[in-house]
Amino acid sequence: MPESYATTDGGRILADLNALRGIGTFKTGVHKPTFSEPHMRSLEWLAMRLPDAGLAASIDGIGNVIGTSAKAGPKLLSGSHLESQNYAGWLDGPLGVVYALEAARVINGDPRMAGAVEVAAWCDEEGHFGHFLGSRSYVGGVTEADIDAARDRNSDRSMRQALQAAGLSGRPRLTTKRGRHIGYLEAHIEQGETLESSGLKIGVVTSIVGIWQYRIMFKGAQNHAGTTRMAIRKDAGLALARFCVAIDDCFPISCGPRTVWTTGRMTLDPGAPSIIPGAAEMLFQIRDDDVDVIARLEVKLHSMAAEATAQGPCSVEVERLRTGAPAIMDATFQQAIEAAAAQFAGGKAMRMPSGAGHDAQVLATVMPSGMLFVPSIGGISHHWSENTADADIITGAEVFVETCRRLLMQAR
Ligand SMILES: [Zn+2]
Repeated sequence: MPESYATTDGGRILADLNALRGIGTFKTGVHKPTFSEPHMRSLEWLAMRLPDAGLAASIDGIGNVIGTSAKAGPKLLSGSHLESQNYAGWLDGPLGVVYALEAARVINGDPRMAGAVEVAAWCDEEGHFGHFLGSRSYVGGVTEADIDAARDRNSDRSMRQALQAAGLSGRPRLTTKRGRHIGYLEAHIEQGETLESSGLKIGVVTSIVGIWQYRIMFKGAQNHAGTTRMAIRKDAGLALARFCVAIDDCFPISCGPRTVWTTGRMTLDPGAPSIIPGAAEMLFQIRDDDVDVIARLEVKLHSMAAEATAQGPCSVEVERLRTGAPAIMDATFQQAIEAAAAQFAGGKAMRMPSGAGHDAQVLATVMPSGMLFVPSIGGISHHWSENTADADIITGAEVFVETCRRLLMQAR
């Protein structure tokens, strides 16, 4: 390793991650819903450490922690999130925050380096109250009315009440200043098994998939489960089941290499053992980083519904609930991650799309953005057993800090 490069401290990174795991511990993971006491303590933990990295810390009116530098030169924004899914893993979020903190500690104090890494912990990436509320607020995409309407999906507590209880009411919300940052870099655990099964250490994220969501409704006739002959039934539940199978038969012909689709919820109406369902509904999701592929599958979905309706005995209707444009990661960022991986991970890196949503997709709407992944053991995530080997955590940090350094040097 060339002597002129500042280096990362693996022991310090592991100690920080374990300190965050010690707040709101659940088995080997954590339970830190947004605005819970352990979440707020984690935000304060970060705010206390940012001055060591030459950053002035503030927690804003939506629970974002932002560390800003007064150093001259280019600024790179970096971070992730500190709340968790319920009873989930210790690295989903904190890994990216601690890497950003480490990069700031290594780079901001180095007199040979112009510019600085600024650190952010975005609130509620996990969506307890909404949909990327913290990072969307930072890019100016959240109104006061949006906050008025937001409620905790588990407890139904309003976001206003939660902000009040957390002591954040009335604080201003910080927003991005156009041109301040050369871009945004985020590290995250892969949450899949591609890196592990390929024997690789770094995922260079090319894009973050768009998510399209649909409600598919089936209408039949509700009737007695004992006296209605099979031949004359209009069973909406059966129509739903057949439609699900038909999707799995049809989609592989038209989909892309990494398209995924999921029926996440099925409801039968009225949903009783002795009643033939008169209506049924499924929530259906398609994810891909190619809008054309999704458009093709959506056309397919509509034609399948028309065909099923024509065949009877139930009618099928498809309603699009949500679209999400895929976010393309910046080419310069991808090259910088690859170069850093060649230096610190023996080139054991691959380019890959992210099938999960991340704050980087929100930041990418206003500035060049990039993401790198480290391996997840067994591909497990959103579960308390989520883990990454210590050696892989340290390698990832070395690649991350080097990527930050390269991006800042290039921007000078
Ligand atoms: Zn995450």
